[in-house]
Amino acid sequence: MSLSEISERIRAAEAQAERAPGSVRLVAVSKVQPEERVRAVLEAGHRIFGENRVQEAEARWTPFREEYPDVELHLVGPLQSNKVRRAVEFFDAIHTIDRERLARRIADAAEAVGRCPALFIQVNTGREPQKAGVDPDELADLLAACRGFGLTIEGLMCIPPIDEDAAPHFRLLAELAGREGLSGLSMGMSDDFETAIAAGATHVRVGSAIFGARPPQR
Ligand SMILES: *Cc1c(COP(=O)(O)O)cnc(C)c1O
Repeated sequence: MSLSEISERIRAAEAQAERAPGSVRLVAVSKVQPEERVRAVLEAGHRIFGENRVQEAEARWTPFREEYPDVELHLVGPLQSNKVRRAVEFFDAIHTIDRERLARRIADAAEAVGRCPALFIQVNTGREPQKAGVDPDELADLLAACRGFGLTIEGLMCIPPIDEDAAPHFRLLAELAGREGLSGLSMGMSDDFETAIAAGATHVRVGSAIFGARPPQR
């Protein structure tokens, strides 16, 4: 697969769903990929990338940003409280708010730093005990807390259970966003981004289908 093939499939899925061309943004998830693969995608003109760890993202993207200042970086992995300030300084979007304490820290950091990334709340649509994300029943309270801290939430994000059909999870996320008046939907990965687009995704997070299989992670 390649960046241009994935972009074509996104355009086709938009058309199929009768959505405006370009209404879906492709976040190319470059976590743990070798540098030369990431450079190839930059050279092909892509500028929106996702990483799942703050420290690794800083190490890789600080030099790349000197060459490509218009790169947009999205944090798609869990955020630890002690890395919030760095994440707020470094990323253009954070997709993984899932608790009130984290939201409060983000609000404090945004005030201190003078900038705030675009923010998404991660929802545990499958209610999996080991998985990050707020329970769907607790979303309204978390959203109210975020707004109380002065944060603007752009949308919702989910990672469906690995062994289930993703479509009902995408539909649930879209329904929750609609109910809460949120326009952003970060959902869909390499194996299911077209299904996510059919359900209304505004941001698809695609890694291995663009870059190739990831080297084994620690
Ligand atoms: C790794 C990752 C992706 C990309 O996964 P692929 O299956 O390689 O497309 C998307 N979202 C999150 C949160 C990830 O951690």
